[in-house]
Amino acid sequence: MLNRPLSDFSIPTDSDFDVVVLGAGVVGINTAYWAMRAGRKVAVVDRQPAAGLETSFANGGQISVSHAEPWANPSAPLKILKWLFDGRSPLLFRPRCDVHQWLWIAQFLVDCLPQRADRHTTEIVKLATESRHLLGEIRSRENLQYDKRRKGILHFYRDQREFDAAIRVADLMRKHGCNRNVVDKRELLAIEPAFEASIDDIVGATYTPDDESGDALKYTQGLAQICADNGVAFFYGSTAVALDAQKSAQYIAAVEIRTPFGYQRLRARDIVVAGALSLRSEASLDRRSLRGLRIPLSSR
Ligand SMILES: Cc1cc2nc3c(=O)[nH]c(=O)nc-3n(C[C@H](O)[C@H](O)[C@H](O)COP(=O)(O)OP(=O)(O)OC[C@H]3O[C@@H](n4cnc5c(N)ncnc54)[C@H](O)[C@@H]3O)c2cc1C
Repeated sequence: MLNRPLSDFSIPTDSDFDVVVLGAGVVGINTAYWAMRAGRKVAVVDRQPAAGLETSFANGGQISVSHAEPWANPSAPLKILKWLFDGRSPLLFRPRCDVHQWLWIAQFLVDCLPQRADRHTTEIVKLATESRHLLGEIRSRENLQYDKRRKGILHFYRDQREFDAAIRVADLMRKHGCNRNVVDKRELLAIEPAFEASIDDIVGATYTPDDESGDALKYTQGLAQICADNGVAFFYGSTAVALDAQKSAQYIAAVEIRTPFGYQRLRARDIVVAGALSLRSEASLDRRSLRGLRIPLSSR
């Protein structure tokens, strides 16, 4: 099967697309959807047999602009330090003799500085607000069933210091249009009576009525079906193995994929990497170093 001549493929080998999206998770499928709606000829490539089978398979289901604070924030270093010595912590750290790992940690610590964290929170709020708005647009146009709930999202706190920090972040978010409001215990119980039994342990909460929730897998697969029905080509069971950079034109012109039938090259004007794809050499992602390079992709 692997040696089958390329000309025997049901899909043409010299496939030309306007946009090739690598990864059929929630990010890739949304990208494909909007490109398709813009009238582009789109292809989506994923190593799995269907959309949404990796990270987007199961998550907290939150569509939360209020969850915009980055992991790199001023309270993170102390929290991480405590977690390192707690066997039951949610953090697993494996130090390696890898300069990229230590550079990443250094960058993370720099990003924990208050000014940088505030700047990143602001940017994420703007992006998340726009994303939630676009989700509303998709919902009003397409018949998508994904167990949506539009009842807002509550964050509650048992630790006064963490609550104080949340009040500050909520203030910042409101300045940028996210209506994350601080609520007292009485308001909290009015929103969610199930807190009654544990209300004495809670010091405070924030509530964002415009936030939503839903099933990420159902959403991703439903939207993928809509894309397919509208002419988007799907290459499932196909792994992206390399990006081909045009030496002369100085841009990436094609992606090489390993399909169940052999290798295939997809040419495209735009190639969107939406797959948390692990590039063997992340440094080669730098635009200047891309020139004239054939970049191998490795998938863990
Ligand atoms: C425990 C947990 C809870 C979370 N809760 C929430 C939440 O409540 N709300 C929220 O907004 N976010 C949440 N997230 C984050 C959210 O789930 C992810 O950000 C999102 O699913 C990422 O989508 P993606 O499309 O970028 O990646 P993925 O869904 O992982 O999609 C990437 C796709 O690329 C494919 N791929 C990778 N490499 C290759 C290759 N070489 N060739 C071909 N295909 C390839 C994979 O098969 C995969 O299907 C949570 C994450 C986790 C882990």
